[in-house]
Amino acid sequence: MAILTKAPRGTVDVLPGESYKWQYVESVLRDAASKFGFREMRVPTFEHTELFNRGVGDTTDVVQKEMYTFEDKGGRSITLRPEGTAGVCRSAIEHGLLGDALPLKVYYFVSCFRYEKPQMGRYREHTQFGSEFYGSAAPAADAELICYVQYILDSLGIKETHLEINSIGCPKCRTEYYKALREYFRSYSDQLCETCLGRLEKNPMRILDCKSPICKEIAANAPRTLDYLCDDCRAHFDGLKARLDKTSIKYVENSRIVRGLDYYNRTVFEFVTDALGSQGTVCGGGRYDGLSESLGGPSVPSLGFGMGLNRILMLMEQTGCEFPEVDRCDIYVGSAGDSASIAAAGIISDLRAEGFKAEGDVMVRSVKAQMKYCDKIGAKYSCIIGEIEQANGMVRVKNMKNGETYEVELDGMCQFMYDRMVADALDDAAGAAEDFGG
Ligand code: ATP
Ligand code: MG
Repeated sequence: MAILTKAPRGTVDVLPGESYKWQYVESVLRDAASKFGFREMRVPTFEHTELFNRGVGDTTDVVQKEMYTFEDKGGRSITLRPEGTAGVCRSAIEHGLLGDALPLKVYYFVSCFRYEKPQMGRYREHTQFGSEFYGSAAPAADAELICYVQYILDSLGIKETHLEINSIGCPKCRTEYYKALREYFRSYSDQLCETCLGRLEKNPMRILDCKSPICKEIAANAPRTLDYLCDDCRAHFDGLKARLDKTSIKYVENSRIVRGLDYYNRTVFEFVTDALGSQGTVCGGGRYDGLSESLGGPSVPSLGFGMGLNRILMLMEQTGCEFPEVDRCDIYVGSAGDSASIAAAGIISDLRAEGFKAEGDVMVRSVKAQMKYCDKIGAKYSCIIGEIEQANGMVRVKNMKNGETYEVELDGMCQFMYDRMVADALDDAAGAAEDFGG
C-alpha cells in the first residue's frame, strides 16, 4: 500500500505553506512579461510525438532519452511535453498568429516532463516559465530578450547569476564547422559514448552538450563555433554584444554553450549560478529561425527562453531573497455556542462580500482551541462572539500583532475593518519611509 502515499520518483509537491512563494514568483513574472509586451498563451500538456521529434530534434538528449511517450487508446503516439517552445510554435502556426502583425510576443507557464535521473534541481516533472519572440531577425531582438530575462532576475532580487552567450552560426557556416568537429571527434571515436558516436555523422555539435564526463573532457578542446561564423552571423553576434555593452548587463562568451535542443541557430545564452551545484543553469534560450518552417509553418525568425522555476525558487531560498508575506486572514470571527455561531456566520459572510479575508469556526471547538487556530493561520484581527456579545450587540476585536483591542458594534464590523486596514497601511508606509530615510 505504501505506493499509494508515495509520489512517483522525480516529482515535486508544493504544500500550502510553500505555495505563496510560487505565487509570488509567478506574479513577478507576469508583471515583467506585461511590461515588455508579452501576452500569455496556454497550450496542451501533450502533443503528437512527431512534433517533438521534429521541433526538439531527434539527436538531442531530450528526444533520445528523456521523453514520456505512450500510445493512446486510439493508437496515436503521444508525448507529454518536455519543453514549451515546440507546442507554442505549433499553436501559433495552427492559429495563423505568425501571419498577423509581428512581432508576436508570448509567454507561458508549463510543466515539463523528462525522464531524467532525479537529483537536487533535476526532476521528472518540472515547471518552466518561457517566452517566445517571433518576427525579428535583428540582433536588437536578441538583446531585448536578454534584457527581459535580466529584468526578471533583478525583480526577484536574484543577484547570484551570470550571463553566458555564444553564437552557433547558421546552416551556412555550420558546413565548415561540422567538418572540423567531425575530424576532431573522429580521433576520439574509441572513447566517445555510444549516443555521441551516433551523433558524430548526424549532428556532431550535439556532442558538445553531452553530460558524460569523458565526452565532456574530449569536448573541452573541440573547435569553437565562434571561429567558423560566416560574415552575417559574425555581424549579428557583434550587433548583440554592442547592444549589451550599452546596458549594465555583464556577460562572458562561452563557446561550449550549444543548448540542448536542435532548433537553435546564431545566439544561444544561459543564465548560470554557482549556488546550485551542478544544476546551475536557471534559464536557457536563444534564436531558432528555422523552427516554424521545419514544422510546416511560414518562415518567421524567432527566439525565446525557458526558465526553470524549481531552480529559481531554490536559488532564491538559498541566497536569502525575500518572499513577501503570505496573504493572511484579515479577521477571525470566533464564536461560543450555536446561536453565536450563526450570528458569526452572517458577519463573516458580510465581511467577505466587502472584500475582506474572513474565517470562523466550523469545527465546533472550544474558544481556546479557536484562538490557537487563529494564531496558527496568522489572522491580523480576531474576536469571539458569545451570548453576552449578542445581547449587547458589541464585541471586543483584538489586533493580533500588538494586542490592542477595540469595542466594536456587531453591525459595524465592516466599517471598523475598513478603518483599521487604512490605518495599518498608513502605519506600514510610515515605517517603510523611516527605513528608507534611515
Ligand atoms: P540541463 O542542461 O540542466 O539538462 P537543459 O538544457 O536540458 O538543461 P532546457 O531544455 O534549456 O534545459 O530547459 C530550460 C530550463 O529548464 C533549464 O535551464 C533549467 O533551469 C530547467 N530544467 C531543465 N530540465 C530540468 C529538470 N529536469 N528539472 C528541473 N529543471 C529543469
Ligand atoms: Mg537536460
